[in-house]
Amino acid sequence: CGIVGYVGPQQAAPVLVEGLTRLEYRGYDSAGIAVLNPRSSAHPSRVVRAKGRVRDLEAALPARLAGTVGIGHTRWATHGEPSERNAHPHTSFDGRVHVVHNGIIDNFHALRSRLAADGVELTSDTDTEVVAHLVARELAAGLGFEDAVRAAVTSIDGTYALAVADVQNPDRVVVARNGSPLLLGVGDGEMFVASDAAAIVRHTSQVVLLDDGDFASVTADGFRTFTADEEHTARSAVTIDLTV
Ligand code: GLU
Repeated sequence: CGIVGYVGPQQAAPVLVEGLTRLEYRGYDSAGIAVLNPRSSAHPSRVVRAKGRVRDLEAALPARLAGTVGIGHTRWATHGEPSERNAHPHTSFDGRVHVVHNGIIDNFHALRSRLAADGVELTSDTDTEVVAHLVARELAAGLGFEDAVRAAVTSIDGTYALAVADVQNPDRVVVARNGSPLLLGVGDGEMFVASDAAAIVRHTSQVVLLDDGDFASVTADGFRTFTADEEHTARSAVTIDLTV
């Protein structure tokens, strides 16, 4: 139902949680965040998810959740009951990829069967989880992060706003949009991702509205947009006036 992402110098967890709190008005049944921390060999990424409110998620957060890149989600369940295991972010079989998603993957049954036949253990009942595994497979096959997301998205049908984090590319978040709202927030040495400007107005009024078919690779110092065919697209920031 709502997506938020952060790449920059700040600790990501509080930015994500605050953004999710600002999306609460949209309604949801569970929430979660993933934070990347390349300095920790024990926990290069951490995922925390909770059924219920954002404050339930906050209560579940460990005292220390270091990392300056992350993605967060509030879920309005369409496939799979509201529960912690179905809450986003979803994680790939190898632990490398985390995904949050708004929308519906129409062909998830076929994709789940194919992954299961190949021995991938599915750990949720959602339509979303397949995306994490598909991206991880493309990465394992040797594609770069952006290309892996492009390749994975070509095999999914449906509506999506997706934000993807890769433990081995901990300086960025890659996003894709088709039929569900998604925008970038441009800060000073930091970037935001959100399904709704309300999540980031506290930080910036400069937003980049993504179009259907857009992908973006988002780093602290900026962003690059492209299409499924790897064509670069020109998207520029506009100033929004949202009174908080
Ligand atoms: N279809 C996904 C799910 O049920 C995403 C729902 C949403 O947009 O929150 O998990």
